[in-house]
Amino acid sequence: MYKLIEGKKIADQVKAEIKQEVSDIREKGGKIPHLAAILVGHDGASETYVAYKQKDCSQVGIESTLFHYEDDLSEADLLAKIEEINRNEEIDGLIVQLPLPEHISEQKVIEHINPGKDVDGFHPVNVGRMVIGLPAYISATPAGILELIKRYKIDTVGKTCVIIGRSNIVGKPLSILLSQKKYPGNATVTVCHSRTKDLALTARNADIIVAALGQAEFLKSDMVKEGAVVFDVGITRVPSENTKSGWKLIGDVKFDEVAPKASFITPVPGGVGPMTRVALLKNTLLAAKKEIYS
Ligand code: NAD
Repeated sequence: MYKLIEGKKIADQVKAEIKQEVSDIREKGGKIPHLAAILVGHDGASETYVAYKQKDCSQVGIESTLFHYEDDLSEADLLAKIEEINRNEEIDGLIVQLPLPEHISEQKVIEHINPGKDVDGFHPVNVGRMVIGLPAYISATPAGILELIKRYKIDTVGKTCVIIGRSNIVGKPLSILLSQKKYPGNATVTVCHSRTKDLALTARNADIIVAALGQAEFLKSDMVKEGAVVFDVGITRVPSENTKSGWKLIGDVKFDEVAPKASFITPVPGGVGPMTRVALLKNTLLAAKKEIYS
């Protein structure tokens, strides 16, 4: 019988811990953590994500400020705004919601954020520090998965791990973190991607599988060995007649087939997603405490 990895429940616990820590800071008269978010344009999904992030902040007592601009904002003006926030000592963490309008270079924007305030962990300095094992802001989804591994005491040492997807924000950083020389890590990691041949055969050898490719119900039971640990990162929105909103979220794992073979598995929704949200709060707290960069 598999054990469900209850991301929502763990995320609530982590949130309670963060809330307590912020409240302790407040009592001692310390600086309240403050997250700034920049949103350019009116993409519906982006507006929703930023609203969630602000709500999460207010639930744990972290201050948040939204800088919302029209989608004709020039790249130069956006970079100037980032520099202003970099200099603002009141603000501890800064995120720029992606995607940005086409006339703005996302890479340039990411590289303009002070690495010490880059709580998304996208700046090359943070990525580089993470790769060589120095303290760094780690991007939210890999950080959330590591937290789940720790809280469920999942053994990773010497395990074979297959990560499907090589994005800069999920697959690639997670592959490095799970192979690093400390727990949770010391796994033997294989990264599969769109050019991988015989992915099913590779996945079938894995003790731990992370599906992060963004294709609904891609991972079927014949791609998973008995007792594997399965993390489902994928989120695909599909129409549904059974929900008030008219849509529902589907993961990259065909849950009903795969779960009976798994030892641990995350659901969608309620698995990796809530942990991703909480990881941003953790990074903001770290930024306020200047624990990564003094
Ligand atoms: P992406 O879309 O940037 O990249 C997808 C990756 O999957 C690529 O590296 C590609 O090579 C690989 N891929 C695509 N098709 C493949 C196939 N048929 N076989 C093997 N590999 C294939 O990825 P992303 O931004 O990491 O997002 C992946 C999914 O995770 C999306 O559904 C996204 O919505 C979701 N996501 C969820 C969270 C969360 O908090 N739960 C966070 C980030 C992303």
